[in-house]
Amino acid sequence: MRSQDYDRLFLSPPHLGRHELNYLHKAIEDNWVAPAGPNLDGFERDICEFTGAQHCVALTSGTAAIHLGLRLLGVGPGDEVLCPSFTFVATANPILYLGATPVFIDSEAETWNICPQRLREALEELRRQNRRPKALILVHLYGMPARLREVLAIAAEFEVPVLEDAAEALGSRYEGQPLGTFGQVGVFSFNGNKILTTSGGGALVTNTSDWARKTRFWATQAKDVAPYYQHSELGYNYRLSNLLAGIGRGQMELLEDRVKKRREIFAWYQKHLANIPGLRFGPTEPAGGRSNRWLTTLLLDPEETSVTPEQLRLHLETHNIESRPLWKPLHQQPLFAATPVFGGSISADLFARGLCLPSGTAMIDADLQRVSSAIRALFEAS
Ligand SMILES: *Cc1c(COP(=O)(O)O)cnc(C)c1O
Repeated sequence: MRSQDYDRLFLSPPHLGRHELNYLHKAIEDNWVAPAGPNLDGFERDICEFTGAQHCVALTSGTAAIHLGLRLLGVGPGDEVLCPSFTFVATANPILYLGATPVFIDSEAETWNICPQRLREALEELRRQNRRPKALILVHLYGMPARLREVLAIAAEFEVPVLEDAAEALGSRYEGQPLGTFGQVGVFSFNGNKILTTSGGGALVTNTSDWARKTRFWATQAKDVAPYYQHSELGYNYRLSNLLAGIGRGQMELLEDRVKKRREIFAWYQKHLANIPGLRFGPTEPAGGRSNRWLTTLLLDPEETSVTPEQLRLHLETHNIESRPLWKPLHQQPLFAATPVFGGSISADLFARGLCLPSGTAMIDADLQRVSSAIRALFEAS
């Protein structure tokens, strides 16, 4: 998709390359239209090669991958799972699928990800009550690496296994190592708006071969080894189709280019909107972190400007430009009204002050210019 002057500018539309169709074509020619086949094997191999993970299982969604990942970590009814409040609801929903309870942790103001200090407080408080959370979900929101060194040290100290929700962070790195490979289990999403897409899809990575085997087993209805259909465990229909995996193969070839372009988009906005009082870009990379800058996000400071994020959003809408508020914290969601939260003011403040700008990799300079001119016009009129 390439936007012409009067087209709508979307937040993060799919951006296909030249090879997806070849993989699809071959799958159809060879009659591999099933949740198995060479594209599926190849897609998983591509993800392993890029991330350095030893095993990958391609699934129907990132949410499915989180669901199975938590089950691998032994999460079940009555368990507690630590989870950042500032994230998309898909991070936490699988906790509920398993009959467990989330415990939300606030963000820190730099990376916008889980705050190590609040995390420690939560773990100490739970320990005083003799409660050991079954898992920690670590999210790298908007592709920004969390403070990994600190968070992993705390998780190790309290012996809590880590599931990395890298749904938005494929291609981001920390100390050179791809995100998604720091926890016991890592999760990626290939939904339509992510940095790469299969229209819908996800993947689970792990270095534990038994876990990869178990994930494949659960994802294909948990069929026992028998000539008839026999089931000893609860399973799901979560395996990605060989067709969609073909799109994924074509997309994986483009990953480094896409990361480069997203980072350029962030830098472009930052440079061209640098001197507007009360407007700044974030989050900030932690030491050793390199974000894929999935979405360019900004914050408005009410002490320096009267323009609110909602005003800016509606203004951009009149120019046929899509923008969107930051994720509404989970501790502010009606669904989680009764869920405990440690802290909460940082993520609430980010939600109140932030906005996501169009960041699709097919954008050309004229598109970026169009967004920045529209933003400038509003601030100059205010
Ligand atoms: C997109 C997303 C998911 C879920 O991925 P799906 O493939 O859409 O199910 C999970 N967590 C975060 C942070 C996401 O952005």
